[in-house]
Amino acid sequence: MTDSDAQLLAKDVLGGDRRALARAITLIESRRPQDRAPARLLLEELVPHAGKSIRVGISGVPGVGKSTFIESLGNYLIDEGHKVAVLAVDPTSAVSGGSILGDKTRMEYLSRRTEAFIRPSPAGETLGGVARRTRETMLAVEAAGFDVVLVETVGVGQSETTVSRMTDMFLLLLLPAGGDELQGIKRGIVELADLILVNKADGNLAIPAEQSVADYRKAMMFMAHRADGWQVPVEAMSALNGERTVEVWKIVEEYQAMRGGKGLVARKRAEQAINWMWSEIRNGLVERLRATPDVAARVAELEQAVRESKISPTTAADELMELFIK
Ligand code: GDP
Repeated sequence: MTDSDAQLLAKDVLGGDRRALARAITLIESRRPQDRAPARLLLEELVPHAGKSIRVGISGVPGVGKSTFIESLGNYLIDEGHKVAVLAVDPTSAVSGGSILGDKTRMEYLSRRTEAFIRPSPAGETLGGVARRTRETMLAVEAAGFDVVLVETVGVGQSETTVSRMTDMFLLLLLPAGGDELQGIKRGIVELADLILVNKADGNLAIPAEQSVADYRKAMMFMAHRADGWQVPVEAMSALNGERTVEVWKIVEEYQAMRGGKGLVARKRAEQAINWMWSEIRNGLVERLRATPDVAARVAELEQAVRESKISPTTAADELMELFIK
């Protein structure tokens, strides 16, 4: 792709052309070295027009009801006049080959609406690679006029942190607890949440769900107070019947308005952008360091020496960095 192709593509994306948007994302996700320069150029064209959406992260264990919730929320938002993009951060897709959004039966109605754009996680990527591409894709969908971006992730350790670092608000979906162990407390996931939703509060699970809500509300009182003064709400909902979708979105809007009013949304995004820049630098430097012939020639030997405690990791790291700088 030439520079002028990339510029034309950017123009079509900005005009709201969905096929162009899909092609732009394919370019962004491409791992071919020759696609990097046009992808960068494309992003440069799009970035000034990005940022006008509300970015919401949605996480929870498989089966908690994320896609059911997104189907319900997405359709409601579109009926309200929004354009909704759904992106996935799913490092497990690299392993399984599938993707959390790859399954066609998920979000069946939403996926057919023209005001929705659903993009699965790029396959065959590590979490770092997925995160980078999802961030860039987010900018592209914003530039194309999508004003709500929902970033879905499966609750598998690091991915929640990653998603909370690229969104304005982080929603954690939980199941009505069977046991006395509160999910996600130990792993620190609950601390990332700006809103906790106990899903499946219907039928037999309605009462356990209310109990879970009470338990989590109690637990949240023991958490450190947040600097922005937000008291993390804990609510029961049923994504299946969708009755509480409107209330849930009201909370999201309330949060965004409160933070926006204090300039905190812009500040958080600015910090996220800086962190993103540094993580790009870290990744890029390590890649380049490893590719340096002097380093490549010495790496195996030094790794072995570190493994056998013959030298300290710090000394080995210093030596490799010296070789790289030279
Ligand atoms: P995900 O893996 O988190 O995306 O979960 P899904 O949205 O695919 O839902 C997993 C299963 O739970 C499906 O069979 C859904 O129909 C069901 N489910 C989702 N939300 C609810 C709910 O609010 N109530 C009930 N009873 N079932 C639900």
